[in-house]
Amino acid sequence: MQKFLEGYKTFRSNYYSQHRPMLERLMKAGQNPKAMMIACSDSRIDPSLKFGADPGDIFMVRNVANLVPPYHPDGDYHGTSAAVEFAVQVLKVENIIVMGHAKCGGIGALIRHEEEAATDFVAAWMKMVAPARDRAIAVAGSASEDDIQRLVEQEAVKESLTNLMTFPWVKEAVLGNTLTLHGWYFDLGTGTLHIMDHTGAFQPAPV
Ligand SMILES: [Zn+2]
Repeated sequence: MQKFLEGYKTFRSNYYSQHRPMLERLMKAGQNPKAMMIACSDSRIDPSLKFGADPGDIFMVRNVANLVPPYHPDGDYHGTSAAVEFAVQVLKVENIIVMGHAKCGGIGALIRHEEEAATDFVAAWMKMVAPARDRAIAVAGSASEDDIQRLVEQEAVKESLTNLMTFPWVKEAVLGNTLTLHGWYFDLGTGTLHIMDHTGAFQPAPV
């Protein structure tokens, strides 16, 4: 914990003191982000580090394996769906980015069929993308373990984008051209971002 408390001191003396007027303005004016991102809770994923985002730029959700469930307003506690609703209906974001990543522990467990394990929450959560895993493995052929993992990670991003379109107001905004959905995939080991094109293939982003 000491590392974080030291980090706080550095934040106060550097970032905060240099950006104080901007931060005060931002807190007074309220947030007006143009983008929402759904990223993994994985401790190695830090979107603000990689994409030059400042406070106020990204409305962020991080959950296990960066998943968006299908629209299912049943009165249960749906944290990710609530965040999507707030971003689209209240903040009127213009972009939603679902960002998958390499070596995702949640997806790795899914490949090992651990979604059938008796956990209280994780197994049921990951089951959501079991069909994506099965689709990716069906076309993987004799691909290596790493390639299979990447294919499943990317297919899960597509599944979340498909699920987003089951939210009626997301679909309406997309069809009305006020909202665009994006599939991204980041590999921290190689430092590369891949972006899903209109065919569903992930292409390296320009550097
Ligand atoms: Zn992950």
